[in-house]
Amino acid sequence: MRDDRGRTSPRLPLALCHAGRRWDDVGVCVCYNDFILDYHALYASAPSLFRDERQAKLRTKQLEVHYFEHLSIDPRDMSDIGKLAPELCEVAFPQVLEPLKQQIGDEGKTIKTLFRLQDSNLIESVLMLYPDRATLCISSQVGCAIGCPFCATGKLGFKRNLSSREIIEQVFFAARSLTSPAKFGPNTSDVHTLYEPRRLTNIVFMGEGEPTQNLDNIFEALEQICAPSINHTDDSTTTVRTQTARPNFGIPARNVTISTSGIIPGINRLAEAKFPLRLAISLHAPTDELRSKLVPINKKYDLDTVLDAAFQYYQTKKRRVSIEYALMLNVNDSEKHANTLAKILNRRGSNWVHVNLIPLNNVEGSPWTASTDSATSTFLETLRSRGIQTTLRESRGQDIDGACGQLAALSDS
Ligand code: SF4
Repeated sequence: MRDDRGRTSPRLPLALCHAGRRWDDVGVCVCYNDFILDYHALYASAPSLFRDERQAKLRTKQLEVHYFEHLSIDPRDMSDIGKLAPELCEVAFPQVLEPLKQQIGDEGKTIKTLFRLQDSNLIESVLMLYPDRATLCISSQVGCAIGCPFCATGKLGFKRNLSSREIIEQVFFAARSLTSPAKFGPNTSDVHTLYEPRRLTNIVFMGEGEPTQNLDNIFEALEQICAPSINHTDDSTTTVRTQTARPNFGIPARNVTISTSGIIPGINRLAEAKFPLRLAISLHAPTDELRSKLVPINKKYDLDTVLDAAFQYYQTKKRRVSIEYALMLNVNDSEKHANTLAKILNRRGSNWVHVNLIPLNNVEGSPWTASTDSATSTFLETLRSRGIQTTLRESRGQDIDGACGQLAALSDS
């Protein structure tokens, strides 16, 4: 697949990055952990492109507008910058993600993209279109160390954390594909006949990886993904752009969900963070005995500890917590399981959680299968009758292995 500058695979020499700076021990240029468009870094990287540091600052501002507002890294769109725009773009926008392949599912409403990173690792993200929103499910790590046995990502094992830049670029790529479909690339033009252009509204960290294991880079990325927010304490939170804010994509932090398997230090850090994020807990079982089989980290952080931390998050942030529960046939889907789940949630208070029931998605080699429709509806009604807000989540991307637990970044190209 080509990018919008017609490049196919601009591999960089391993000894030196685009800016002549060193690579870190996992083969990722240190520049890629910087904020996007830091004018000091830009000036230091390519002083010959600027008259002085003041001009570097001006050019950086112009590049910011193109990147974050016009969603463009194409020098042909940058007449305000002039003839140095191509060289400037080469330095400012190194291709940290190379889109390799796209698959379209759900009749065009779900699009999975496979990316190659600079060190040749692969990751995936999934864009889901709804009548009222466009949600991007992004990866925070290459692989995952948690090893849930029903999850394709878990089978890959852990390779490395994504840098903040690699996280931001997943957002940029999806946002641009929605608003400027023609620029998306020659091999994917058919995608754009399937839906109308629109803006990216929601982000969920539910792709590859356990996000709480990479919070430094996620927080750094959120500085450039989210508009700063005020009035955090109620649902009418508004977002503002301020003079001091980093340039960003303007997605409200309230529309960003971080999903965790239940890493307590991570949940506590999220509670202390300035972002009013939505917390989702991948619970999947109402007892320690069962949960330790499905989500092995439960042996370290047991159910009570995880729910206590989640409840604390609710109290601190005044944001209802999502409980993710994948229904597996004859494993965790009985009425008794539903009653036990309601009991442990209600014990901590009312109205503090929302349970999302997820039809289990097939993963090759996994012994678990999805619950029957009747078991699913009994489970759902049992929770509702016990006062727990519960939704059966529409499963997206099953036909392209892009549904929850199916992301495994395999390339056959
Ligand atoms: S379900 Fe989430 S935490 Fe568990 S292995 Fe998969 S990606 Fe990791």
